[in-house]
Amino acid sequence: MIFTLGCPKNDVDSEILARNLLESGWTVVDSLEDANVVIVNTCAFIDHARAESMESIWDFIGEREKGNIDAVIATGCLAERYGASLASDMPELDGVIGNRDIDKIPDLIEAALQTGRTYHASPQDFSENWYNRPTGHTHPAWAYLKISEGCDNRCSYCAIPGIRGGLRSVPLESLIKQARHVIERGARELVIIGQDTTAYGHDSGQNLFPEMLRKISEIDGDFWIRVLYVHPRNLTDENIGALVETPKVVPYIEIPIQHISDPILERMDRKVTSTEIRDRIAKLKEIRPEMALRTSVIVGFPGETDADFDELASYLESGHFLHGGVFSYSKEDGTQAARFDREVPARVTETRQQLLEIIFDNLRIENNKNMENKKLRVLVESGTDRHDLHWGRTEFDAPHIDRKVRFRGDAEVGDIVDVRIIRGTEMHLLGVKE
Ligand code: SF4
Repeated sequence: MIFTLGCPKNDVDSEILARNLLESGWTVVDSLEDANVVIVNTCAFIDHARAESMESIWDFIGEREKGNIDAVIATGCLAERYGASLASDMPELDGVIGNRDIDKIPDLIEAALQTGRTYHASPQDFSENWYNRPTGHTHPAWAYLKISEGCDNRCSYCAIPGIRGGLRSVPLESLIKQARHVIERGARELVIIGQDTTAYGHDSGQNLFPEMLRKISEIDGDFWIRVLYVHPRNLTDENIGALVETPKVVPYIEIPIQHISDPILERMDRKVTSTEIRDRIAKLKEIRPEMALRTSVIVGFPGETDADFDELASYLESGHFLHGGVFSYSKEDGTQAARFDREVPARVTETRQQLLEIIFDNLRIENNKNMENKKLRVLVESGTDRHDLHWGRTEFDAPHIDRKVRFRGDAEVGDIVDVRIIRGTEMHLLGVKE
């Protein structure tokens, strides 16, 4: 069984790992009862994520000590980032295997199971063609498409380049093959992910982002394309054009701005100014006013003053973004920012986080109200529940992180149907199929 934590990129890694294990003669199961080996695909991005990964590892070690499973293997970013110390500090683990080359993991698991002690391996050579053989997709109605791995932006607070390496774009023909594969198997939405999706092709000195979207949209079939992880520094006119003009690309983009005040953007080394962010977001909304934008921001960054925070709060309050995630700054060893002075007290950071979360809640509640009596396109994600209602998502909502639509009416998982919204609640939308 593969137990996945962290971001959508880890979900894709688990899909690739499942394919590789199946090819190596393993059976991949979904339930602990049926498993004899558990692979924990961990996350190490920030403090909270590491704690969650450690907790999960200990839970499964507990299952092994009860005799319910035979072995526990840790892979993913925690294993990549802290491999050697994890292996020496946790002899209870059967294996600690880095995630830079997932194709090697099945053989390394075999090796781990033979040694009888904590085995550590971290293949250092990167793979960037994980779609050279098709993989399955986790949800029947939609699929992630990971177009690149690693990142060259090197924001001052971010540990990812140290874990996942520099930018590597998946060859376009492999992406098309994988996209066609999941569409032919019923996926009606492709969710485009990477550390910075708009940097696609930069590792070969090109901007291949528009061509990538165009080629995917040319695949036969009625499906949605949703783009996440757009870095505002790469929101050029050409990329904006591709996002608003390419057929099948839904009016939704995730653009993590992280902050809006120039002194903080500079200390974060985001390579984009406040004016550039404001102008590009305004341009997007001018061209497509119905566009739903999601962002993520960091509060409590070293040096963040009340004025910096107020500027961020008032920018978010202006309602350019419908959805948002607020993170408190996490001091990450090995990053530039870890050496910065002027740390913000934890209680101040916490208050700032709560204030911005209230802003996003209010924006969502207001938008949910504005959706009443509107007819929206909805991708059906589940069969009927005990109230005979389906669950689905509109074009304006991404999987796992945004609101859902609960509706009455005949529909199958994977259908895209018209739903008249009857009521907008605090969290979700209620409707009737038309
Ligand atoms: S863009 Fe910045 S924050 Fe995002 S993965 Fe790259 S270095 Fe990290």
